[in-house]
Amino acid sequence: MKYDLIVFGGGTSGVAAAYIASKNGLRTLLVEKTDTLGGAITQGLVIPSMKTDTQNINTDFFNDLMIYADKYSSRHKYIDGNEAWFNPELLKIVLDDMLNSVNCNVLFNSQPISINYNDNTCIFETNINHKLLSIYVETNYIVDATAEGEIFKLLNCNFQKNSETFQTPTLRFMMSGVNITKFADWLEKFDQDRNVTTIDRASSQIHLSTAYTWDTNKAWALRPIFQRGVCDEVLEYEDTAYFQVFTIPSMPETLAFNCPRVILDDEDNILDPFVYSRALFQARKRIFRLANFCKKYFTGFENSFISHIADTFGIRESNRVKCKYTVTKDDIINPKKFDNIAFAGDYPIDIHSNKNNKDKLEFVKKTYFVPIEALISEKYDNLYAVGRIISSEFEAQAALRTQMSCFSMGEAAAKDIYNKLTSQDKKQ
Ligand SMILES: Cc1cc2nc3c(=O)[nH]c(=O)nc-3n(C[C@H](O)[C@H](O)[C@H](O)COP(=O)(O)OP(=O)(O)OC[C@H]3O[C@@H](n4cnc5c(N)ncnc54)[C@H](O)[C@@H]3O)c2cc1C
Repeated sequence: MKYDLIVFGGGTSGVAAAYIASKNGLRTLLVEKTDTLGGAITQGLVIPSMKTDTQNINTDFFNDLMIYADKYSSRHKYIDGNEAWFNPELLKIVLDDMLNSVNCNVLFNSQPISINYNDNTCIFETNINHKLLSIYVETNYIVDATAEGEIFKLLNCNFQKNSETFQTPTLRFMMSGVNITKFADWLEKFDQDRNVTTIDRASSQIHLSTAYTWDTNKAWALRPIFQRGVCDEVLEYEDTAYFQVFTIPSMPETLAFNCPRVILDDEDNILDPFVYSRALFQARKRIFRLANFCKKYFTGFENSFISHIADTFGIRESNRVKCKYTVTKDDIINPKKFDNIAFAGDYPIDIHSNKNNKDKLEFVKKTYFVPIEALISEKYDNLYAVGRIISSEFEAQAALRTQMSCFSMGEAAAKDIYNKLTSQDKKQ
């Protein structure tokens, strides 16, 4: 089997890379460890995609995604202009359809065990249905979209030095049986100053979002209720670190929760499998308490229940790879122009901390740009890295990790590979 490129990881950035490469006629193989596409969005229940610069570059994948998502009624355009409020379950079907429509070869339940990288040839073994199977594939290019740099690890490539603390992980969940109309009516009266609560009654399904954090620098309307929850021992204080809910298109009685945060000790490294596993135990206990809290104190939750706990942990930041260019915090704050821009953005530096009053949301004044060299390995010219592993400093990654940027990174890598392959063909 010979491919133009193999994309490892069928998540946020990987599906964009594989779709755009296939759409441009490249022979593409997408290798995904689990049984679904979408990564953090579908397996991690991470919705909605945050808006970034409307002038962004490389948005063909996003534009097609909007069309396919509409076909399955799986997105909502929110009142703040955000077009990408997704339904994570339906998105699994949307992404299958998109990848099939461009004849991309997809291997689920597969992951590379070894890679021989020799004369632009990649040979890997894969584990399908728990049976070790060796698949020998030749490829001209590889894209690492595994969110942890698994291919960079196998090829002994360099990583950025880890920062002293990681961003806090979150295990997301959903509650169903919620009477959204009652909840919206109650919330509208309760949160009079409307500092974080928004309610969109324009379409047939009510959409809303609200939030609370334990930070004292904001006048959160929900604070007295959370305080009561702690006082009544329904919640532990750390459960109140961060609370955010969103409605979901085509799920009229369900809410998606961007919480609970896992509170790790400073010396705990989430990349340590023991820390990771302990953190999951902690997160699921917090979900149970938060769900009981919602039932007890929020109008509209009387008949609610936990309907879904994310299949994968929400890791915001861990390994960052080293490419020909490393995006710095200064590139985000004082944007530079580059010859070959992969994508642009204006999403702020968004750091979730494990301590109260230590979160950071640093807005940027201008659109920033990221060069294609930030996606190409410093060691191999035909190895690309896309997604939250982007070659960047800790604070730059905190701005670049959102889904819209990940889509554009995947697309930029695919187009760069296409340009290189077609210019080689012309030379021959
Ligand atoms: C809790 C949380 C909340 C967030 N909130 C938002 C938000 O509201 N809006 C927003 O825009 N962004 C948000 N983000 C950020 C954003 O969702 C992620 O940074 C982004 O989706 C990561 O994309 P990715 O392509 O790097 O990885 P992923 O989407 O995680 O994809 C990685 C894929 O690689 C696969 N994989 C892993 N290892 C292998 C292997 N060895 N072989 C084959 N496949 C492999 C995985 O199964 C997965 O499918 C949030 C992130 C978190 C964690």
